Amino acid sequence: MSVSGTGTYEPGNIFARILRGEIPCNKVFENDYVLAFHDISPKAPVHVLIIPKKPYVSFIDFSKTASAEEIAAIMQATGHIAASLDLEESGYRVITNAGHNAGQEVPHFHLHLMGGKALPAFPG
Ligand code: AMP
Repeated sequence: MSVSGTGTYEPGNIFARILRGEIPCNKVFENDYVLAFHDISPKAPVHVLIIPKKPYVSFIDFSKTASAEEIAAIMQATGHIAASLDLEESGYRVITNAGHNAGQEVPHFHLHLMGGKALPAFPG
């Protein structure tokens, strides 16, 4: 079920629980600003979710209220992860779903990094 990309942050969401260590994840990368882990239901051979550690509902929230350091950190982490997973030569896709029309399901901002095969034409 899709969620709103605006409004009050819901601290019980699944990514908040992963960040608090309440449920496990298959971690790919972590630094002071960012956590990245494999998607539990991958849509491509490589499907990694990259999330800020601070609570932002969606890209809508993040792009308005995150610090320049946080914004830079998630972009730099995404590029670093793609390189570390050997995706640069073959290529990859980075997307975010923000709110109902995009089908966002988890109300904590995240980027999807997908690759490992030729992906369907976007938006499919
Ligand atoms: P979105 O529709 O953009 O909100 O994407 C949410 C993504 O989170 C989906 O691709 C799910 O497969 C993924 N997901 C949900 N729960 C978990 C989990 N516990 N660990 C890893 N990925 C998850």
